Amino acid sequence: MAELSQDALEAGRLLFAQECNFVLGCASLSQLPEDSLPEIAFAGRSNVGKSSLINALVGMKALARTSNTPGRTQQINFFDLSGRLMIADLPGYGYARAPKDQVQKWTRLVETYLKGRASLRRSFVLVDSRHGLKATDRAIFEMLDVAAQPYQVVLTKSDKVKPGPLGRLVEDIGKELATHGAAYPDIAVTSSAKGDGIAELRAEIATLALP
Ligand code: GDP
Repeated sequence: MAELSQDALEAGRLLFAQECNFVLGCASLSQLPEDSLPEIAFAGRSNVGKSSLINALVGMKALARTSNTPGRTQQINFFDLSGRLMIADLPGYGYARAPKDQVQKWTRLVETYLKGRASLRRSFVLVDSRHGLKATDRAIFEMLDVAAQPYQVVLTKSDKVKPGPLGRLVEDIGKELATHGAAYPDIAVTSSAKGDGIAELRAEIATLALP
């Protein structure tokens, strides 16, 4: 990621030092919360480390997990970060054995959300550093391109990969993203386990929040 100033890092720290609260989980779009705040969304394959990343960002152990109880995974969970930013945690995708109707339901929910959410500022698509891009990630890039919703790739679990291969992965994904209309060119590299890249991602997100 590009060099960030001390001021930007401090703005990110301050934003995420504030209270973050679970608002609601939506299984259907009729239940969406009002889009009065700027919003960001997190998407990623199941097990990519999405709950861990959200929890690392807000500095809470179980914020995302508490709402991700089994059976409630096919819903969008909304969190309010101190009245300055809404965080949407999209349901994980890419379950190996997901039944077809589940996949269709997921696609309908996420596609409609992305197409209609005027307050959405940026979607963060999480990709496991060990696995790189999968077909399901490319499918969500496509969905975001079509919806004209800007998005940024965030690599997770960077502690699991050596710097050499990690650098090559960033380069390869960067090249691929350059062919996508709505993709943000910078790739965030993070480890929720070690805390790497978390302050930088907070700073990046703070630029999207209300002052
Ligand atoms: P989700 O299904 O995308 O919400 O994924 P989780 O946050 O529940 O994480 C899935 C698994 O990956 C768990 O076993 C986590 O402990 C592990 N994990 C998440 N983030 C990291 C990380 O930064 N480093 C390492 N080594 N493991 C991680």
